[in-house]
Amino acid sequence: TRHFAADFGRFHVKNLKFVRTPAPRPIPEEIPAFGTVATDHMLEVDFKGSAWQTPVIRPVEDVRLHPLAKVLHYCPTIFEGLKAFRGVDNEIRMFRTEANMARMVTSARRAALPDFCPLQLEHMIEDLVRKEQEWIPRGKGTSLYIRPFLMGTDPSLGVTRSTEAKLLVVCCPVGPYYASGWEPIKVYANPANIRAAPGGVGAFKMGCNYAPTIATGDEAAAHDCAQSLWLWGEKQWITEAGTSNLFLFWKNTNDELELITPPLSGGLILPGVTRDSILALVKEWGEFKVTERYPTMSEVKEAAAEGRILEFFGAGTAAVVAPCSQIVYVEKPNQEPVKIDIPEQANPLYRRLHETITGIQYGKIDRPEWIRVV
Ligand code: PMP
Repeated sequence: TRHFAADFGRFHVKNLKFVRTPAPRPIPEEIPAFGTVATDHMLEVDFKGSAWQTPVIRPVEDVRLHPLAKVLHYCPTIFEGLKAFRGVDNEIRMFRTEANMARMVTSARRAALPDFCPLQLEHMIEDLVRKEQEWIPRGKGTSLYIRPFLMGTDPSLGVTRSTEAKLLVVCCPVGPYYASGWEPIKVYANPANIRAAPGGVGAFKMGCNYAPTIATGDEAAAHDCAQSLWLWGEKQWITEAGTSNLFLFWKNTNDELELITPPLSGGLILPGVTRDSILALVKEWGEFKVTERYPTMSEVKEAAAEGRILEFFGAGTAAVVAPCSQIVYVEKPNQEPVKIDIPEQANPLYRRLHETITGIQYGKIDRPEWIRVV
């Protein structure tokens, strides 16, 4: 019960202090590589003595931690990733921030980090984005990437609940994911590498889920693949691709047009905001069957051989949608992987989804319930 009844203390936008940087940095003219340049200010809120302290927006600088700080040993650290967009009307829009905040609270609870008020964090992030708005690039497909994170900092080697914590929010200007048209990616499916398991923490955005994917990502890259395709279990359920949710658009064995995406119920996938948005849109369009279940590798292989696969694409904040052109599949251990080709459609669904979602984000399509102008 302790973590549900946490005292939010001073965790409220009305307590937010601002310390302006004495040395503003020039805003880069060229958009830097993803996540390499932070804006001038960050939000910082510390949890100490069983209470949240005064939140402050202050110059970005190094974080000081005691060498015994828990996060340095056992990784109680969780994060979010969301964006602010400069619209066609020059207004700054944020997309479904409350969904990211809600997910961050569930991650914090699972990592035994202090609970906080998601609405107040949303307000504080809006304030930060307003202060950093000159950093939001103007080019097509560009945005300000916002990275909130929360870590356990108490200097104690006990594997126990974090009694001290630090919440930070930093922002980075980012470019379009596809700078020169769509570039479908190859994905690497090796059932020997798994990301999440039933009863595990795959449904939470915990730092500890990502470190192990770096080496397996290198293995994918060695097979000329941009992402790992995460499989689970004897049936080789397809769960996610890299750091995105997954959609299969096909003609099923009943000759129906169907969009399939894995379910949230098994706890194997991250409940993506983009996934949820896509499901809402296609259900409104009502043009084909929509099913939440795991496709299996054998189904996909068979459907590809029969020409029934129309599209296979990832979905996430980074690119909105990421079409896949080939699955490099380690069907038998220690043998050459099998290559499953995904055809390219003339008018793909992924493009329509991309146009609709980015249309909403940049203010070309009105969908007020998903947008807050800041
Ligand atoms: N799965 C994983 C493992 C992720 O890290 C992400 C990125 N947050 C996603 C899916 C997509 O989620 P979202 O649409 O909220 O960005």
